[in-house]
Amino acid sequence: MTIKPPLKRIEAKEKLPVAIIGGGLAGLTAARTLHDAGRPFILFEAADKLAGLAVSFKDEEGFSYDFGAHFITNRLADEVGIGSECLTVKSYGERVWLGGKSYSYPFGLMAVPRMSVSGLRAKLGGSNGEDRNARDWFSRRYGNALAEEIALPLIEAWSGAGADELAPSVGDSLPGSILKTLYLKAAAKITRRAVGCGYSRELSENAGVYHVYPKNGVSEICTKLAEGLADHIKLKTPISEIHVENGRVVSVRSGDKEFPVSAVISTAPANILAKLVTGTDALKEVANFRFRPMIFVNLKLSGRGHLPDTVMWLPEKKFSFFRLTEATLSMPWLAPAGKTIITVDIGAEKTDPVWSISDDELVEMCLDGMAELIPNVRELYLGHNVLKTPISYPVFLKDYEEARRRFERSTGIDNLLSIGRNGEFAHIFMEDVFVRTRRKVTELISKEAAVAIDA
Ligand SMILES: Cc1cc2nc3c(=O)[nH]c(=O)nc-3n(C[C@H](O)[C@H](O)[C@H](O)COP(=O)(O)OP(=O)(O)OC[C@H]3O[C@@H](n4cnc5c(N)ncnc54)[C@H](O)[C@@H]3O)c2cc1C
Repeated sequence: MTIKPPLKRIEAKEKLPVAIIGGGLAGLTAARTLHDAGRPFILFEAADKLAGLAVSFKDEEGFSYDFGAHFITNRLADEVGIGSECLTVKSYGERVWLGGKSYSYPFGLMAVPRMSVSGLRAKLGGSNGEDRNARDWFSRRYGNALAEEIALPLIEAWSGAGADELAPSVGDSLPGSILKTLYLKAAAKITRRAVGCGYSRELSENAGVYHVYPKNGVSEICTKLAEGLADHIKLKTPISEIHVENGRVVSVRSGDKEFPVSAVISTAPANILAKLVTGTDALKEVANFRFRPMIFVNLKLSGRGHLPDTVMWLPEKKFSFFRLTEATLSMPWLAPAGKTIITVDIGAEKTDPVWSISDDELVEMCLDGMAELIPNVRELYLGHNVLKTPISYPVFLKDYEEARRRFERSTGIDNLLSIGRNGEFAHIFMEDVFVRTRRKVTELISKEAAVAIDA
């Protein structure tokens, strides 16, 4: 005998749409997944356009700006269907500026005797024992010299917190073994493509996975995912409340409108999501999670190749910035011929004076600091563009590490998913956002179908 599920009730539950909060890469991936599964949904986006963080800006002089050297993998581009619309990134390298000299990362640093000796000592000492904080994690794996002179000052500038206050899990976002890095770097040299290294955690990294850049800017990936979904998308509709009853989300609110929903998939920053939820305390601790704000000063310069590699890390405290990126070395099309852009990353809290000084003062500060690396930088300077984001990197404080780990597993509310970079409170790139979102949304669909059958 076959037992038929109570079809009417399933239909009634599934007729209610899933609310997706946010129209960046994660929200649109969720929308596409629900659409392909034939599930009703409404995507609410607070801004007047889609793409969220995945935006590019182009000015009238032909300079393009992203958040950093913003590229994706050929694998993600193919999966979304924009592979043929992308340009191949031919090379990408990182260096560290220390004591007036630049060292390639990681191998140039390994040739510095004090770094290699203390690294070897750390390896021989083993990494057993419990790491109490980020300082322990880095010292045990890389040795004191590399940890104290490079890794920790960078992490402190990047997060705005001391190495002793940060959880050891900060280290989890770094690329894998030296051997793997060596293989990927060699593959990049041979194939003359920027083979991904330390970019993907969900899928394998190998010689066939390299960086590409959509011809019309990174937002192209969101445009493609949104194709044919316009009827389900509401722009300029910020969600101000997610209402929970008996442990389940029942509705969301925007302005004076209430929308009954079967589930919510949120891509809003985790700490903001926690403040939107009413009717439960499940996300109380998540409201304390902190993100690091960031200022990006894009300097337009004449000439090109002012940095020896695309990215230069600056761990020394005398600099008011911690990273310089000359993205045109990897992606020449981002500036007109014979010109370049160097992006200066400044980590700051919104209460720090540097957050509110004028753009001209920021530029002065950057040019002053950069003169050590590029002595004639003032003569090369053509103009600037400043971008600021209050939410750039998740800060893994020890204070809320246990709550973060719980949140990593679940929001504590069955039909509420928190996904995407800021939604998951995870330092992940677009390919991982895409892969994780698809997996989590698929799981939600089957879980909710099971709930409907049980009801
Ligand atoms: C400095 C920097 C450099 C990066 N470089 C790279 C790179 O080179 N390569 C790469 O792959 N990735 C990079 N990333 C990461 C990448 O940008 C993100 O992983 C990805 O864009 C995140 O997409 P998302 O949808 O999770 O979030 P978002 O893009 O932030 O989208 C969230 C959306 O939700 C909306 N929203 C928020 N609250 C509400 C609300 N209450 N109601 C309605 N809408 C709301 C927002 O307006 C936004 O549009 C970088 C990130 C940063 C910060």
